[in-house]
Amino acid sequence: MNIKENIDYILEQLPKGVTLVAVSKTKPIELMEEAYKCGIKDFAENKVQELLEKHENFHSDVKWHFIGHLQTNKVKYLVGKVHLIHSLDSVKLLNQIEKSFGKANEVANVLIQINIGREATKSGMLVEDLSEFISALESCEFVKARGLMVIIPKGNEQSNRYYFQKTKKIYEDLKNTSYKNFCMEILSMGMTNDFKIAVEEGSNMVRVGEGIFGKRI
Ligand SMILES: *Cc1c(COP(=O)(O)O)cnc(C)c1O
Repeated sequence: MNIKENIDYILEQLPKGVTLVAVSKTKPIELMEEAYKCGIKDFAENKVQELLEKHENFHSDVKWHFIGHLQTNKVKYLVGKVHLIHSLDSVKLLNQIEKSFGKANEVANVLIQINIGREATKSGMLVEDLSEFISALESCEFVKARGLMVIIPKGNEQSNRYYFQKTKKIYEDLKNTSYKNFCMEILSMGMTNDFKIAVEEGSNMVRVGEGIFGKRI
């Protein structure tokens, strides 16, 4: 397993304008260093504690992405540390981000996570809850929604395409609206096994873990 080869292979397949986010959860700093040497500056974690430790011990020009389920009581720790939160999925969490980031007079950049497969076991908001969420967002001062994130249900290529297209459609529909604190610039979809299809279906940010760093235990 060679991290540089993995990254070269992925980048070859990404058109211009698509950002590769290296998902480094559970992986040590030494392996992340290899990715950094290849020019990767975007790293993602799904646990607050792990992000904080790595933030403390890794290069200061890294853009940290938070992609895990975020508990309201942990939001305050991300202030000043995170470039983009991909997993905003409730009004309750929105209000907490507004409060914690507001205290530091800092704007939080977020993506709205949609539970596109309507899976009971997955986080993310249901499409029908978006309008209530957007109204709440409009009264915020310290939160800017820059796009959408999805984790699609497991399936074959055909079902992957179906969920990516479904997400792209929501993204485009929302793009044609104008709400305060809301603009659709980032569509975060696609992981190791499906990033190519995701990009074909309109993703402009892919989150790849095992495809760069090898299997997680
Ligand atoms: C772990 C994780 C990824 C990366 O998954 P791989 O299959 O290792 O590429 C992407 N997005 C989220 C939200 C994750 O939790």
